Amino acid sequence: IGGHPKPTQASLKPASVASIIAIGSGKGGVGKSTVSSNLAVALARAGRRVGLLDADIYGPSQPRMMGVSKRPASPDGKIIEPLHAHGVTMMSIGLMLDPDKAVVWRGPMLMGALQQMISQVNWGDLDVLIVDLPPGTGDVQLTLCQKAEPTGAIVVSTPQDVALLDARKAMDMFKTLKTPVLGLIENMSTYVCPECGNEAHIFGHGGVEAEAKKMDLPFLGALPIDLDTRLAGDSGTPVAAGSGPMADAYAQLAERLIK
Ligand code: ADP
Repeated sequence: IGGHPKPTQASLKPASVASIIAIGSGKGGVGKSTVSSNLAVALARAGRRVGLLDADIYGPSQPRMMGVSKRPASPDGKIIEPLHAHGVTMMSIGLMLDPDKAVVWRGPMLMGALQQMISQVNWGDLDVLIVDLPPGTGDVQLTLCQKAEPTGAIVVSTPQDVALLDARKAMDMFKTLKTPVLGLIENMSTYVCPECGNEAHIFGHGGVEAEAKKMDLPFLGALPIDLDTRLAGDSGTPVAAGSGPMADAYAQLAERLIK
């Protein structure tokens, strides 16, 4: 955060946005969107001007997680006005689509939609724009990395081998696209039973940190399987907006990123 690379002529990055950080994962369902929204809120609580772009075209979950449902206005038919929630300026492709209809788009349409969401949204002055990518290694990642000059990417994975396998592919893609990987986050790391305090490693434990070490990349932190995180995401107020151990964990993650 805080880097101010000069946009090239072809860049989609608005001049008022200082840095773009992409959040990616190899597999779906590992908590990439949960981490994106909570990190955005934690960075905003740390005093940063934060935007959150939900570019997960096939499964946009940020409207629900951030508790917004209004269709963004576009008074002149060109510039789209973003929405605001929990101190974060946000936009999601999900706000422009019928939530019950499946998206079946070809690559060029996807790229057009992504370009619009980055360069036609009135983001205003932002220190950082967090982009919640679709899982995997497809057209959206390619367009973002090649055209929007992201400062870097964060890869979220569970410690499970199959998730790690795909996370490695995501990291490899970022390397090929010359987008620095700023670090890895292990989500759903442990589960502490609220009844007896027993700690269980449902998806394994420590695999992401070991992977980070192997690849000589920063390990940004481990987040447990946590009922409040899930409930908060479903209710539209991310757990990072409240108080308690998970809000503290996200505040720490944000601090690590700011440094
Ligand atoms: P992805 O973006 O990788 O597809 P999501 O963020 O949508 O994943 O998370 C998938 C589901 O898992 C959601 O219902 C979310 O609330 C839940 N979830 C994510 N992280 C956690 C966690 N640490 N503890 C409990 N539930 C979680």
